[in-house]
Amino acid sequence: MEKVLLITGGSRGIGAATALLAASQGYRICINYLSDHAAAEKVCSKVRELGAQAITVQADVSNEDEIIRLYTRVDAELGPVTHLVNNAATIAHVSRLDDISEFRMLKIMMSNVVGPMLCSKHALLRMSPRHGGQGGCIVNVTSRVSCLGAPGEYIDYAASKGAMDTFTIGLSKEVAGEGIRVNAVRPGYIFTDFHALSGDPFRVSKLEGDLPMCRGGTPEEVAQVIVWLLSDKASYVTGAFIDAAGGR
Ligand code: NAP
Repeated sequence: MEKVLLITGGSRGIGAATALLAASQGYRICINYLSDHAAAEKVCSKVRELGAQAITVQADVSNEDEIIRLYTRVDAELGPVTHLVNNAATIAHVSRLDDISEFRMLKIMMSNVVGPMLCSKHALLRMSPRHGGQGGCIVNVTSRVSCLGAPGEYIDYAASKGAMDTFTIGLSKEVAGEGIRVNAVRPGYIFTDFHALSGDPFRVSKLEGDLPMCRGGTPEEVAQVIVWLLSDKASYVTGAFIDAAGGR
């Protein structure tokens, strides 16, 4: 069976590092992105240089019609998805709940919860033997803040990641008998552009001194965990959480 890996939000940060690490491990890779076509193509070129077949597909994974279009492209150009990394997510400016609008809450929940649940649904339609598949693997990139709550910062984002942790537990048990493993990685402060969305691009540098390991993490360190969970080396691991958070 060909291994076909879909990484949502693969054009930057943790998703891009995952694509590059997986490139040498026998996957055909789809790099999904929202808006930065040039960044996605750059990652795709590097993945191809490492020997993997790869494509980029623009799609907003908070919208089911776009998810269906994404999976249809992958079916046609790489084959049915066997491995999914639900990595794409968004965050908003540091705020207390008093200042968080309904619009913002809905956007966070659509991107960070409904989107990954729908991406998982369309993956199962290809992975599950109930639908003619031969099993597969899903890794959800959640966050250490699902356990910490992020008070005074972005509790809406933390709550979305908590929902994905619960989804990971439920789905892992729902499909364990169908040869599908579902796990989650919970990063801590990682050096990516994500923090600009919270209003401070230098957030990790400013806060890393307070971490037990006294430093922020790299996207490559998180990618190592994701790619291990995707691999057969983790064949008896499902419903598990690995914190890549420097002890936070
Ligand atoms: P990042 O560098 O900002 O990259 C985000 C990626 O997601 C980009 O490829 C972006 O595409 C894509 N994206 C965003 N919304 C999307 C949507 N609706 N549909 C499709 N693609 C979308 O982020 P990151 O730091 O690597 O974060 C990756 C994951 O790790 C996220 O789930 C995040 O919550 C989690 N995480 C990060 C940290 C951290 O400190 N960085 C900590 C804990 C958890 P464009 O470039 O086209 O916009």
